[in-house]
Amino acid sequence: MSNKKLLVLPGDGIGPEVMAEVRRVVDWMGARRAVSFAVQEGLVGGAALDATGSPCPDSTVAAAKEADAVLFGSVGGPKWDKLPFDQRPELGILRLRKELGLFANLRPAVVLDPLVDASSLKPDVVRGLDIMIVRESTGGIYFGEPRGVSVNAAGQRVGVDTEVYSEEEIARVARVAFDLARKRRNKVTSTEKANVMQSGRLWRAVVSEVHAAEFPDVELEHMYADNAAMQLCSRPKQFDVILASNLFGDVLSDLAAALTGSLGMLPSATLGAVQPSGKRHALYEPIHGSAPDIAGKGVANPSAQMLSFAMLLRWSFGLEEEARLIEAAVEKVLAGGLRTADIMQAGMARVGTAVMGEAILRELEKLSAN
Ligand code: NAD
Repeated sequence: MSNKKLLVLPGDGIGPEVMAEVRRVVDWMGARRAVSFAVQEGLVGGAALDATGSPCPDSTVAAAKEADAVLFGSVGGPKWDKLPFDQRPELGILRLRKELGLFANLRPAVVLDPLVDASSLKPDVVRGLDIMIVRESTGGIYFGEPRGVSVNAAGQRVGVDTEVYSEEEIARVARVAFDLARKRRNKVTSTEKANVMQSGRLWRAVVSEVHAAEFPDVELEHMYADNAAMQLCSRPKQFDVILASNLFGDVLSDLAAALTGSLGMLPSATLGAVQPSGKRHALYEPIHGSAPDIAGKGVANPSAQMLSFAMLLRWSFGLEEEARLIEAAVEKVLAGGLRTADIMQAGMARVGTAVMGEAILRELEKLSAN
C-alpha cells in the first residue's frame, strides 16, 4: 500500500472525461516509475448535489483533510444553474478551500513553443514565457466585512465591499512567493495599489519586512497593479513570480492566461499552511470550468488536468523528475502536430480526448526509456 494518499474529485461536465486520462497516467507512474498512490475518488459539485444533496458533502471534506493532495476536475453546469446561490455546485470548491485553509493560489502562465502562435501577442513577445502568479485566495475584498447592498439616507442603493488584510495574511502568502522564486529565477514582483489604498500600503510594508528578514537573497520589486497589467501585455518576460491580493491576482492571472492562448492547457494549485506534522494541504485543478458546451463529446483537451497532476507531483511530493516527464510529454505531443479542438491550428491533426491522452502516455513511455 502506498503512503501517498491522493483524493481524486472529477466533478461535472468534462471533469470526469479529462480525469479518466490522468488516471491512466497515475497507473503508468505506478507501473513504470515505482511511484504509486493510494487513490480515493470522491464526489463534488453537481454530481455530489445529485447524490447527497450537498455540493461538498462532509465525507468529501474528511477525505480531503486525510489526503496528502487533492486532484480536482471541474464543477457546474446548466442542470444546476437555476438553483439558489447557496446550493450551487461551485460552492463545492469554495468549501474545500475554506476547510483546508488553502490561501495561496499558484497559476503558472507558460507558453509552450508549439503553441506560440495561439497567443494574443506577437510570438517574439511571448516565446519562452514562464510566469508564476501567486494570488492570495482566502482574504481581501471577496470576504471582507462590511459587505452588501443597502439604501442610504437619500434613498439611493449603495453597494459595499471591503478590502481587509491582516499582516499575517500578507506575510504567509509572501513567503510562498519568495519560496517559489528561489526554485525558479529568484525574482518576486509584488503588486498592489499602495498609492491609493491603505491595505496596499500595508501589503507593501509587510512584503518588504518578510523579504528583509527571511529572503534577502531573492530580488524583490514592487509594482502598482495597474502598471503590472500593462507590463504583462507589453513586456511579459520581465516577470518571474508575481505576488498579488485576491482581487488583483484574479485579474492579473486571467490576463496572463490569455497570453498563453488556451484555457485547455492551464493548471493551477492552491496551497495551505505547512502544519506541525510537516504536511501541507494542497488542491490541484485546471483553470477551466466544466465546459458544458462540449461535455460528453469526447473532444475536451486533457492537458490542463494532466499538467495539474504534474504540479501535484512537484509541490506535494517533490517528484520533480516525474513532473517534468509529464510536462515534456505534453509538449512533445503538441510538437508532433496533434491538437484538440480548442487549440486547433492549420496543418495540424485534430484529435479527441482519448487519443490525446493515449499520445501523452506514449510520449511518457518514450521519454522515460531515454
Ligand atoms: P469553461 O472554462 O467551462 O468554458 C469556457 C470555454 O472554453 C468553453 O467554450 C469550453 O468548451 C472551452 N473549454 C474549457 N476547457 C476546455 C478544455 N479542457 N478543452 C477544450 N475546450 C475547453 O467556462 P464557462 O463556460 O464560463 O463555465 C462553465 C461552467 O463551469 C459553469 O457552471 C461555471 O460556473 C463552471 N466553472 C467551474 C470552475 C471550477 O470548477 N473551478 C471554473 C470555472 C467555471
